[in-house]
Amino acid sequence: MKGKVDILIGAQWGDEGKGKTADAMSSTVDVFVRYQGGADTGHTVVVDGEKVVFKLLPSGMLYPGKLCVLGNGVVIEPELFLKEMDELHRKGRDRARLVVSPHAHVVMPYHKILDHAQEAFRGKKHAAITTGKGIGPCYVDKYARNGIRVDDLLNEGRLREAISTILEEKNRILTKLYGEKPLPVDEVYEPAREWGKVLAPYVEDTTPLLRESLEKGKHILLEGVQGALLDIDHGTYPYVINSSTVATGGFSGTGLPVTCVDRIIAVVKAYTTRAGDGPMPTEDKGEGGELLRSKGGEYGSFTGRPRRCGWLDIVALRYSTRLNGCTAIALMKLDVFTGMDKIQVCVAYDLNGTKTERFSSLSDLAECRPVFESLPGWHEDISGCTTFESLPEAAQNYVRYIEERTDAPVKLIGVGPARNQTINRGL
Ligand code: GDP
Repeated sequence: MKGKVDILIGAQWGDEGKGKTADAMSSTVDVFVRYQGGADTGHTVVVDGEKVVFKLLPSGMLYPGKLCVLGNGVVIEPELFLKEMDELHRKGRDRARLVVSPHAHVVMPYHKILDHAQEAFRGKKHAAITTGKGIGPCYVDKYARNGIRVDDLLNEGRLREAISTILEEKNRILTKLYGEKPLPVDEVYEPAREWGKVLAPYVEDTTPLLRESLEKGKHILLEGVQGALLDIDHGTYPYVINSSTVATGGFSGTGLPVTCVDRIIAVVKAYTTRAGDGPMPTEDKGEGGELLRSKGGEYGSFTGRPRRCGWLDIVALRYSTRLNGCTAIALMKLDVFTGMDKIQVCVAYDLNGTKTERFSSLSDLAECRPVFESLPGWHEDISGCTTFESLPEAAQNYVRYIEERTDAPVKLIGVGPARNQTINRGL
């Protein structure tokens, strides 16, 4: 095959800076692909001083001549999709060609109602992460073989029949279990039919399209969302999301063969953050965490909620880079450390008196206490640095320290939010 495929994943619990990394790689990428998740992510890219937040669309939408793909592994909320397209269009930023897989599943109105109703029913004791946008219930229906896919929207007869059948069951669940009102078929069918009309020009089988792109020598970037530690199989279950956030999800979520992969790039934040519940061994609920939060602007890009913050967890990171088979690291937000005398790094866990360097996604992670090593910090402003050599010695050492402990070379370094605030070491 003449082309190449890179996979970009978040190596921690999300919000690592994947949007900016994809943007920094954009000059060599021809095809940007989303392969999992829905419109609840929020990749932030800063272009000409203005923030652009991508929720469902690939970040390559900003570039003329590029192809952007929503693969079969993505779930699509048509109204959010159209709203996002509209916003980009109004700003003149819908510059790429967009193609949507007919096999992507559609978030239906009952998914959103179920999302909220289930949360309320299960109460606080139930561990789950949801943004209430119906994405989880949509994936559940996908695996229960009870979903509506994009190509169903394009066939009115099949669509009405599918909705009628599905609603027979959903309405019983909604009314009898959750005390909600039933949804009339027309109330679901009519808007869905309209979505089909608007989506139709974008729909094309993306698997052969990607294959052809490879054969033509194109460079394809598979953009993961969220983070590897939120993976349904390998993350900190049950505090995870409903899709496969690890690199291998890129194959099932697009139909590209595993043998075509060139590089697997892990986006790593220089420290650790987590949104929502679940174990996070290095969480600092005191001044240290607050400092990282305020300097790093660690507030949800949708919710504005403060993220939980703490020092870098090398145990979790090594688990993640090995799990994903990462060939390179993009280390973001190094500039956030500027002005700190010391930087702490978690190199092991203390689990009930026993030291371990093994990450566990199981329940004992909540019992793990971090064992820290302290590294010297720096005070020089690094936001204008364009080469590794121009970074202060202590910053260079931090980068080397991560490379040694994860066996993956740090090929990109983020020194600020803007596109050009990225040091490229040969990615
Ligand atoms: P994503 O979902 O992984 O793309 O991450 P988010 O977009 O949620 O969060 C990353 C945030 O960090 C965004 O506001 C970016 O503009 C910002 N950011 C990315 N890289 C850097 C960096 O190197 N330095 C600083 N200071 N901010 C960065």
